[in-house]
Amino acid sequence: MLYNSTQNVGEVVSSAQAIAQGISKDGGLFVPQEFPKLSEADFQALLNSDYKGRAKLIFSAFLTDFSAEEISDCVEKAYTAEKFGGDNPAPLACTTLDGNELNILELWHGPTCAFKDMALQILPHLLTKSLKKTYDGKDAVILVATSGDTGKAALEGFKDVDHTKIIVFYPVNGVSPMQKHQMNTQEGENVKVCAIRGNFDDAQTGVKKIFTTPEVSEKLAENNMLFSSANSINWGRLLPQIVYYVSAYCDLVNSGKISFGDKINVVVPTGNFGNILASYYACLMGLPIAKFICASNSNNVLTDFINTGIYDKNRQFYTTMSPSMDILVSSNLERLLYKLSGNNDKLTREWMNALKTEGKYEVTDEVKAVIKEKFFGGYCDDSATQATIKKLFDQEGYLCDTHTAVAVKVYEQYVEETGDKTVSVIASTASPYKFSKSVLEAVAPGETLPENEFDMVDRLNELTNKPVPAPLAGLKNKPVRFSDVTEANEMQNYVLSALGID
Ligand SMILES: *Cc1c(COP(=O)(O)O)cnc(C)c1O
Repeated sequence: MLYNSTQNVGEVVSSAQAIAQGISKDGGLFVPQEFPKLSEADFQALLNSDYKGRAKLIFSAFLTDFSAEEISDCVEKAYTAEKFGGDNPAPLACTTLDGNELNILELWHGPTCAFKDMALQILPHLLTKSLKKTYDGKDAVILVATSGDTGKAALEGFKDVDHTKIIVFYPVNGVSPMQKHQMNTQEGENVKVCAIRGNFDDAQTGVKKIFTTPEVSEKLAENNMLFSSANSINWGRLLPQIVYYVSAYCDLVNSGKISFGDKINVVVPTGNFGNILASYYACLMGLPIAKFICASNSNNVLTDFINTGIYDKNRQFYTTMSPSMDILVSSNLERLLYKLSGNNDKLTREWMNALKTEGKYEVTDEVKAVIKEKFFGGYCDDSATQATIKKLFDQEGYLCDTHTAVAVKVYEQYVEETGDKTVSVIASTASPYKFSKSVLEAVAPGETLPENEFDMVDRLNELTNKPVPAPLAGLKNKPVRFSDVTEANEMQNYVLSALGID
């Protein structure tokens, strides 16, 4: 199995290279040249396996330059019961709301309580093996600019992984107190965390600049290091996300909720379009999915795109209570467009260039037609988000976070609009305790909130009786290890000095 760039089909690499490199030299994203089809026998094996077994089967279909032992080693190290609180890292919680059945796929039982753990717990292992195959003997330096969740998940994934170092930058006033404390107390000998005076864009621009400054790369090379990336366009982050959709389907069959072969719908709270794309890729492998329901918050650029075929990021940016979906450029959409245009690299490049220069592009009628047929786009604002959290908790005693609530609300809209009652899987992307303030406001409107984030966690626990995930509960007493703050234009010097090569 080989991979090529979405912007140049002639740029062909192995999976190890795709993972080690992160992004193609032409700026395109790596995609599999074709999608392996799951056979009847594969499905039998998947139905009879646990999560790890399912992951191994799916990984081996895509990572043909990895041995079975290498894949097994990655999977066994990543999805331990210790890290994910049980043998199934992605369990389904089944409930109902106003007569609609909800199958909530809880993807937040990992060490940082957000779904990014599902990929970032395994990426470091895939990456170190990929580096060994492609750039043997070098150490990977991971630079991350984060607005919160990704930074912590990447730190947890890479901590103390041999031959890697990770440096995370976050905007000094741009993350929640909980997220800041999560990062500043990070353990591990190979990790560094630094705040920058500036916003997320400044952090992101700074990281990109360091990546593309030849003198910095040369300096790393002289010291047997190279830059690599852990962001969501890396194939090594997308692939692990395919697994949980297949696994959820198997669990539905095994529990008798559906029969093997029945189609399901999926509902995904979407930001960068990685999570929902993974479900589409699962479908290309033969998983029977009828509809992809794409849920957005007030930053509804994807809702408009699905309805009109016009992607237009020239619009107001909203800061919402589902911050991981506050995105106007959904990078992974590029991979869907490439596929839907019949692997047309020229068209994909044209659209992405138009997005860069004009902030806007319009796809062809053919692509519009497929999107209309397979996707449904919907959105809701913060007040509908909180009303949904409250309704679901009051009616069913199920507590969800703000991102998941957006998905539940959009699913309700979908059922109302279409009458389609196909069994649906709703991706739940964060623990409610990760966004305690908004969730607490939702379940106890009018209550005076405690000042401190940890007191909010305790109060939410008192009101709902839902267990606080151990990684968040234990955070309060952890010593702060990092308190560096730097100017955005000093990031390069910070990196070189952190690596000891200034
Ligand atoms: C990252 C994130 C999302 C968005 O996922 P994408 O793959 O970027 O679409 C949704 N919810 C939470 C909690 C996240 O951390």
